[in-house]
Amino acid sequence: MTDVAARRLDPQPHEIADEHRALADAALEILLDSSLEPIVDMVLTRRDGAYEALSADGRVRFTADSGVVAVLEEEGANPIANQATDAFSPLEAELAHQHPHRSENSYPNAYDQIVQLFDAPAAPDLCVLHSARHNWEDQGGHIGEHGSLGVVQARAPWVLAGKGVANLGVVPRAARLVDVAPTIAALLGCAPVAADNGRYLSRQDGVVRDDVLDPSERARHVVGFLFDGANPNVLYSMAASGEAPNVARLIEMGTAFGHGAMAGLPTVTLANHTSIITGAYPGHHGILNNAWYDRATQQQVITNSPLPGTSRWTTSTRAPTRFTPQCCAPGPTSSPHRSTNRATSTRPTPPSVFFRRGENPGIPPSADGLPHVTERFVRPSKDYSWSSVVDHMAIEQAVGIWDGHYRDESYPHPRFMWVNFTLTDAAMHECGPHSEMAAASVRDSDARIGEVLAAVERAGAFDDTAFVLVADHGMEENDPSCQGRLGTVSLRNAGLQIRDEAYGFLYLGVDS
Ligand SMILES: [Zn+2]
Repeated sequence: MTDVAARRLDPQPHEIADEHRALADAALEILLDSSLEPIVDMVLTRRDGAYEALSADGRVRFTADSGVVAVLEEEGANPIANQATDAFSPLEAELAHQHPHRSENSYPNAYDQIVQLFDAPAAPDLCVLHSARHNWEDQGGHIGEHGSLGVVQARAPWVLAGKGVANLGVVPRAARLVDVAPTIAALLGCAPVAADNGRYLSRQDGVVRDDVLDPSERARHVVGFLFDGANPNVLYSMAASGEAPNVARLIEMGTAFGHGAMAGLPTVTLANHTSIITGAYPGHHGILNNAWYDRATQQQVITNSPLPGTSRWTTSTRAPTRFTPQCCAPGPTSSPHRSTNRATSTRPTPPSVFFRRGENPGIPPSADGLPHVTERFVRPSKDYSWSSVVDHMAIEQAVGIWDGHYRDESYPHPRFMWVNFTLTDAAMHECGPHSEMAAASVRDSDARIGEVLAAVERAGAFDDTAFVLVADHGMEENDPSCQGRLGTVSLRNAGLQIRDEAYGFLYLGVDS
């Protein structure tokens, strides 16, 4: 247990208001009815000064004062009793236990995960988690899903390699995505905050994973790759079998967390991209979900909306523990060139910024003819095609920067580069993580990172560079026969005034 409660954003975590108690009881009665049990795994809430996880066949109530968990009450089966980080790993174990029931599933760091969520002022009153089986057929027909607290949905891969990294291969250990930023800061030799060795960021929930670093070396450059939604069991298995040779190369020259790095709750994209880069849980950095309801302004927030005003959430002081500024602070291995380079070299302009500036960053009209594209999936799948184009653009930019030139701007060698790939998420959602399309997405993405590795080599910087490969959450194959909504239709039919955001964040006393 880390001291997340001690470092929370607000003096008081969010809990159900007195005037909404009866409404909460009425909603819980519906959500926990056995008829919804196949899709509602559990409901999380905080009321009367304690946290609760409630399911159809049991519940637990606990406090976490000063970071110390105290279970106050258990009734029936405690839904989060199993918090093992090694469940359903490696791939064979996951395939042998697909879409496990709650009684066999595990929920890593569940107490921490619940505490951090309700630290956010915009936390939902009720957080409804879907079961491992649940198929969102009515939301778009995905066979792969994530977002929940179960281990396969939370588990991302995490590989570190190169300068400053211990060479241990795949180790049977787990980490958390909030550990990524502090570990990168340590790898780069950044200065810790105050005298606290291990704290590099102003609101840091993660820790430096010293166990995978080589303390005798620090990296001059760090290049991070994010394979969105990549199931780590699939990724590691393909690396081992030779189907992802560049990922295999990184593992061979470094260390991979065999049991993965757990995403924060909700285990969704934008919340966890922010966690990776800030070292803070979603409830602490403020990018709470892909969408949520802000009680203060009585407005819906859609994190990734291109509409003016919405992107302030990603640039405001609500996410104060940004990685880059602290990382540029002079550290023990600082070089005289670092501060002069930092404005351009640590923050290359991402393609999204070109869009926000109203520029077209040279989008290829289609994926046809682009390198590293699996044509047989580009034709039938719009998402595969679009993601292939986007990821190609990411590579053009990353390679261009290492070669010194991209879109009429010159670049020095970056001290820190982060390259995000979306294809793995698109493919693993569409056909599931164990599909041929998923495997093709890993092969294509592997080839793309090979381009960046080659560019770093061309630049003569390979031996001074550490590489990080991570994802923002896991991906679980669900059961297409297990359909339906998370109870929101039943709540509406019962006439309850409840707003549902981003599928399962319920706000009481608010019109939908
Ligand atoms: Zn994602």
